[in-house]
Amino acid sequence: MPAKAKTKTVRRKIKIRKGDTVRVICGKDRGKEGEVLTVDPKKGKVSVAKINLMKKAVRPDPQKNPQGGVIELPAPMDVSNVQLICPRCSKTARVTYMKDKEGRTSRKCRKCGELIDG
Ligand SMILES: [Zn+2]
Repeated sequence: MPAKAKTKTVRRKIKIRKGDTVRVICGKDRGKEGEVLTVDPKKGKVSVAKINLMKKAVRPDPQKNPQGGVIELPAPMDVSNVQLICPRCSKTARVTYMKDKEGRTSRKCRKCGELIDG
């Protein structure tokens, strides 16, 4: 009997959260900054406002878009293509995890030492 191949799921911890400001470091939108709209930890993808836009054809929708046509949506991209920007020092920041008194995990900027999650 052949041994069952175990698939190891590598969990990369995503240090970016919804609402963070990030800078794009790869691709056509390199150097741009934007707010994180969605985070997909399973796929390791994030989508950022006005970054990596893709055109999508939509049917007319009386509430959202009565004309229909083509709209632009941010497409998810790999989390390794973006860097978190520290809201305190406004620089691309490496973060470490800290536990606060209540046991919650907060992120701390390694550059300025400030907690990113207020
Ligand atoms: Zn900082």
